[in-house]
Amino acid sequence: MKAAAIAREVASRLAETDSIGLNATLDWSADLLDREAARVDAMLAPMPLHAMPIAVKDNIVTVEQPSTCASKILEGYVSPYNATAIERLRAAGAMVACKANMDEFAMGSSTENSAFGRVKNPIDHSRVPGGSSGGSAALVAAGVVPTALGSETGGSVRQPASFCGIVGIKPSYGRVSRYGLIAFGSSLDCISVFGNNVANAAAVLGVMSGHDHLDATTAREPALPLSPGDLPDLKNLVVGLPREYYPADLDPGVRAGLDRAIAAVRAQGAEVREVSLPHSKYAVPTYYIVAPAEAASNLARFDGVRYGVRRLKDGDDVADMYRRTRGEGFGPEVRRRILVGTYVLSAGYYDAYYGRAQAVRALIAEDFRKVFSGGVDLLLTPTTPTPAFKAGEKADDPVAMYYADVFVCAISLAGLPAMSIPVGRSDGLPIGAQIIAPMFQEQRMLAAAQVLERVVSATGEVR
Ligand code: GLN
Repeated sequence: MKAAAIAREVASRLAETDSIGLNATLDWSADLLDREAARVDAMLAPMPLHAMPIAVKDNIVTVEQPSTCASKILEGYVSPYNATAIERLRAAGAMVACKANMDEFAMGSSTENSAFGRVKNPIDHSRVPGGSSGGSAALVAAGVVPTALGSETGGSVRQPASFCGIVGIKPSYGRVSRYGLIAFGSSLDCISVFGNNVANAAAVLGVMSGHDHLDATTAREPALPLSPGDLPDLKNLVVGLPREYYPADLDPGVRAGLDRAIAAVRAQGAEVREVSLPHSKYAVPTYYIVAPAEAASNLARFDGVRYGVRRLKDGDDVADMYRRTRGEGFGPEVRRRILVGTYVLSAGYYDAYYGRAQAVRALIAEDFRKVFSGGVDLLLTPTTPTPAFKAGEKADDPVAMYYADVFVCAISLAGLPAMSIPVGRSDGLPIGAQIIAPMFQEQRMLAAAQVLERVVSATGEVR
């Protein structure tokens, strides 16, 4: 199919989602889509992502649209360069479909923290799509685009993928260049991908992956292949079930979804083994020290001088200008993170909080290393403790919101690749299973996910 026809179709679907008030998009235009299509149609060689429309989270910079991180402080900001991931995707024939709404600066688990309004879950509008990449997830779940880019610092693609019933992949830290991803927690941040199926998401990930001289933290590993390769079944694989990720009070619908996935893993010939990751219970408090500490430092650049919309009144001195710019430009959750991060890094508290969190982070990572070196190939867990919650339900309780990340954060702290795949629904709401792999073993994870995708119907009711 000609890219031009695909682009027109996507534009009409984008207009429709905007008109039903999903609020998943930020900037997009039919004109720009037409231009993207013309560029792709002019490509002579067959391209691996020929005319693939991709929605892009608004913290990944693109020259054609503003990149605001859904924050007032970056309103109207247009980057002078494209992120490396965007350059690679466009060169492979993909089209940037739109910029997607998100929690401000990727801080949140519900996409209620956007300065431009909350995103609705397309499956049930009274519920959240998860976050922070909620706009990207909603656009894939609504069938507007087959793939979308999100970012992960601590679960922001896997958790919304689970809430929206789609595939979400977080690669190993360093697998994809962070050049052009607006920094949140630099030791954790990963550009990540959503797909309407494993194959599409894997192709996008493959194109983006590989070393980039513009990001010294990218791994010198070869790029991932565009297709995970066909595994006929899961024979010869050992799948671990970490007992800390199956608490007695797990939501019954989530439990039923996982039971179904575990049964499928067994039926496909894998050996299933219970394992233990004892330090994972400290992952949420550890993450919520490390990530804000890094954020406090990264967000210092938004001061109205280097970056950010300057706010200043007659008679203001420079301190007033900083105060006004940052006080009015950042929303409440971002301000909370900056305050927490500054506190845990301050003299007198550094050792007690940040230093300690770093030590616990090492223990969390060591748990995974031990399990994987003990003969386990992959781990299988729920992605989230509950299905998508109602909008407003956790909005006034930051700690309850942070615990939505309880099964995803440890993996981010350890830098490992992991993904969420849909494994059915409970009372109509999607349930996601998380597959976790050893460092740089994305291929094994993706191949197993494809087998599960084939055998676990994504739409069946699990209870
Ligand atoms: N929910 C987590 C947070 O608010 C994760 C965010 C992310 O992965 N970007 O920090």
